[in-house]
Amino acid sequence: ALKLNNVSKTYYLAGKTLRVLDDVSFSVEAGSTTAIVGPSGSGKTTLLGLSAGLDRSTSGTIELNNIPLGDLNEDDRAAVRNRYIGFIFQNFQLMPTLTALENVMVPMELRGEKNVRTRGKELLDRVGLGDRLTHYPVQLSGGEQQRVSLARAFANQPRILFADEPTGNLDAETSGKITQLLFELNRQAGTTLILVTHNTELAASTQRIIRLAGGRIIADEKQ
Ligand code: ATP
Repeated sequence: ALKLNNVSKTYYLAGKTLRVLDDVSFSVEAGSTTAIVGPSGSGKTTLLGLSAGLDRSTSGTIELNNIPLGDLNEDDRAAVRNRYIGFIFQNFQLMPTLTALENVMVPMELRGEKNVRTRGKELLDRVGLGDRLTHYPVQLSGGEQQRVSLARAFANQPRILFADEPTGNLDAETSGKITQLLFELNRQAGTTLILVTHNTELAASTQRIIRLAGGRIIADEKQ
């Protein structure tokens, strides 16, 4: 589903060069679950963003469903994202001008699906937001926004779901529910899960843990 070959990412800031990812290679099979872990600043979010086609690597190649992302322009990368990918990202997710329910409904409507309102409500109910349907993103807490994006991911049934700290803003109980839902999506729809997390319990529930430090893979463990 995803294949990275010798991927590096360098940022240039205030005249300095910062190598955030250094020669990273790995591949992830369709339908599998993987956690990417490592200390703060080790490059996890950057790695997720590159893999999801949100940004380009400085060198190396990234293939998503056999499509080399580096060869595509921004429009084509966006098309690949819309077709295959779901995101649960902390600062990159909901449409601010749409309510929680509309955020979940819109992608289904765009695909011409039926009963989108009823299904949207059901999905929001499932993530515990049945009483927040008409709230706009700014009127929701961080954890609630995250749950709306999870409901949207369920509606979209993406081939690959990238989640950056999906349980980051949540209390233990909600975090457990979200974890359950993520793995349900994997089991029921075969969605490949790639998660960045500091939550050791969540990481331990995946089939594989990739450990990053200083922009390099220092361990790759099947479990
Ligand atoms: P955390 O666990 O704290 O979220 P992370 O492992 O996800 O950390 P990244 O967000 O990938 O780390 O960032 C890796 C490094 O790259 C950090 O030191 C950060 O300051 C730097 N960095 C990220 N984005 C940029 C950017 N656009 N320009 C310059 N430096 C950046």
